[in-house]
Amino acid sequence: MTDIDTQAFLHDLHELRKIGQFRTGVHRPTYSPQDMESRRWLMDRLAVCGLDVSMDGVGNVYGRHPGPGPHLLVGSHIETQNEAGWLDGALGVVAGIALSRAGLPVDVCAFADEEGHFDVGFLGSRSIIGEVTEAEIDGSRNRTDGTSLRDALRAAGLDGRSRMTLEPGRHKGFLEMHIEQGTQLEQAGLRIGVVTGIVAIWQWRLVVQGQQDHAGGTTMAERKDAGLTAVRLLAAIDSEFPRIAGERSTWTTGRIALDPGAPSVIPGRADVLFQFRDVSMDVLERMEAGLRALVREANRRERCPVTLEGINKAIPALCDPAMMRALAGAADALAPGAWQYMPSGAGHDAQNIARKMPAAMLFVPSIGGISHHWSEDTKDEDLVLGVQVLGETARRFLAG
Ligand SMILES: [Zn+2]
Repeated sequence: MTDIDTQAFLHDLHELRKIGQFRTGVHRPTYSPQDMESRRWLMDRLAVCGLDVSMDGVGNVYGRHPGPGPHLLVGSHIETQNEAGWLDGALGVVAGIALSRAGLPVDVCAFADEEGHFDVGFLGSRSIIGEVTEAEIDGSRNRTDGTSLRDALRAAGLDGRSRMTLEPGRHKGFLEMHIEQGTQLEQAGLRIGVVTGIVAIWQWRLVVQGQQDHAGGTTMAERKDAGLTAVRLLAAIDSEFPRIAGERSTWTTGRIALDPGAPSVIPGRADVLFQFRDVSMDVLERMEAGLRALVREANRRERCPVTLEGINKAIPALCDPAMMRALAGAADALAPGAWQYMPSGAGHDAQNIARKMPAAMLFVPSIGGISHHWSEDTKDEDLVLGVQVLGETARRFLAG
C-alpha cells in the first residue's frame, strides 16, 4: 500500500484555499495577482518535495521528478472561475504534491487557464502538447474584460518565457483527480468514480427562415413564424432523443435568438444554438442522424425552412483501459463496494493530455453537486480516500 501523508495533503489544500479567498471559496482568475501568487506557492511546495520546478510562458507550473522512471504525470489546474470553489482543479494538483511527497516517481503539472478566462480554450494543456500557435495567443482575449492575452501575460511577468512541451516517451500515463461537479456519486451513496472517458460536445446551429410581419395585421393562416417552427422542432428533439440517446447523454438548447425580437413583430428568423454530449462515438452519430431526420421532418411539415449547420464535433477522450484497471483495483482495495465507473460530463485537461499518453481520471463526490460556486465542497474523508486511491493506482500502474 502506498503511504500518503493525508494530513499534509489536507493542510496543503487549506493553505492554497487562503490565496484569493472569497467567502468559503476562492477567486483566482487566470493571471490575476492572486493566481500568480498561487503558482509561486505551488512552485515552493513542489521544490520542497525535491522536484525541479519551472513556470513557462503561459504560466504552466511543472515539477519534474529528478530520479529514474518510469514516470507518471499528475495534475490539473489551480486558477478558478470567478468567485468559485476551492477544490475544482486545486484538488488534482495538490494530490500530485501528495503523491510526490510519498516518494512516487511523478511529475506534477498545473495547466494554465483550464477555466477558459481567455478564449483560446484549455490554453495550458493544449500548449504543453504543442497545439497552441503564437497566432492563437496573439488573437486571444479575456472573455470578461477584453484584455488581450499578450497584455495579461506581460502584466503577469510571463512574456519572453518559452512554452514547455511534454518530453516524448517520458511518461507512462497521466492521472487527474477531480471533484465530480455533479450528483451521481452522492445520490448513489458512493465515494469514488472511475472515469471511463470525457464526453465530446457536438455543437449545432439551427436557422429557421420565416417572414417578418405585423403581429396584428397578418392572419394566423398567412404568417410564417420562425419562432414557432424553432420551438416545435426543439420540442420534437426533446421527445425523440430519449429513444436514441445513451443513458448519460445530455442535450441543451443554449440560445434561441429571434429576429427582430420585438413584441409586435412576427419573428422572421430564429437562430438556435444546440448541443449534445456523450462519451461514445456510436451514440453521438446516432444522435446526429436523429437530429438530421427531425430537421427533414420539420421541413416536410412546417411553413418555415430549417437549415442545420454543424459548428463543432469533438472526439470523446476515452480513458486508458490499463489505467482504469489500476484505478478499479485500487478502489476495490480501499473502497470496496463504494465506487463506480462513470463518464465525465465536463471537460478537463485530461482530454488534451490523453492525445499524447494514456490518461485516466478519478472523481470524488461534490456535496450537493455544486461547483463553479464559492459553496463548492467535499467531505474531508472523501478527499482523503480519493488521494489514497490515486496513490495506490499510481503504485499499481507503475508496477504493472
Ligand atoms: Zn476543473
